[in-house]
Amino acid sequence: MPAFICPTCGTQYATSDKPPAACTICSDERQYVAATGQTWTTIEAMGPRYDNCFHHYEPDLFGIRTVPHFGIGQRALLVRAPGGNILWDCIAYLDRATIEIVRALGGVSAIAISHPHFYTTMVEWSRAFDAPVHLHAADKQWIMRPDPAIKLWDGDTLSLGDGLTLIRCGGHFPGGTVLHWAAGAGGRGALLSGDIVQCVMVRDYVSFMRSYPNLLPLSAPAVERIGRMLEPYPFDPIYGGFYDRSVPKDGKAVLKRSIERYVAAVRGDGSAELK
Ligand SMILES: [Zn+2]
Ligand SMILES: [Zn+2]
Repeated sequence: MPAFICPTCGTQYATSDKPPAACTICSDERQYVAATGQTWTTIEAMGPRYDNCFHHYEPDLFGIRTVPHFGIGQRALLVRAPGGNILWDCIAYLDRATIEIVRALGGVSAIAISHPHFYTTMVEWSRAFDAPVHLHAADKQWIMRPDPAIKLWDGDTLSLGDGLTLIRCGGHFPGGTVLHWAAGAGGRGALLSGDIVQCVMVRDYVSFMRSYPNLLPLSAPAVERIGRMLEPYPFDPIYGGFYDRSVPKDGKAVLKRSIERYVAAVRGDGSAELK
């Protein structure tokens, strides 16, 4: 039986004879159903039209994305670590070439995902690499393809070993999680942020939203909480959830000034100017 995928968000559903009646993820206010209506595909049907491409960002960090654009344009990041590689976030398309390349890079020991917009085909990736999937329990209602490999975690942090720490920031989703990589950037630390901390068009600011496509902001306290959660962790670059969305350096200062600007904007007179 096929496991249908929603092309708008990239979410794969449990196997079924017929496609789901609607996409639960796209029906939520943080996503949208395409104006042309709901359609469905499968990994097999994607085969002739799509490929994954790899980008080397720094030693032991590779990005993986699908071309042409699919879903919301998700980017996964493969972190190579002595105790086993971590796949951070996930993308919908997975083919034999990707499996062989990732195996040659050392495979995947565990998968961790920032929030439901990146759950995509996590079960396919989990099975291909025999790896568990760590998801925050606060978002379990958004798991559209349950599987024994999915491990729910609770609380504010989870260590994956090798200085890799999942940090629950909340915000965009209640279980919204980022990955701190202490060994990144030559030991200065790196933040892998999905769109919980959103890298934007300029590289000296980041921003935050409840819904990106529908422009629903987060409250000031929700964004201030993100700052508090990340306070103990040093980092220089921030790698966001999408191709070419990164802050190359000074991430700690970028985050601080971005939170100040954001809070001033939502609490103040409508401008983003600090008084
Ligand atoms: Zn969808
Ligand atoms: Zn999202």
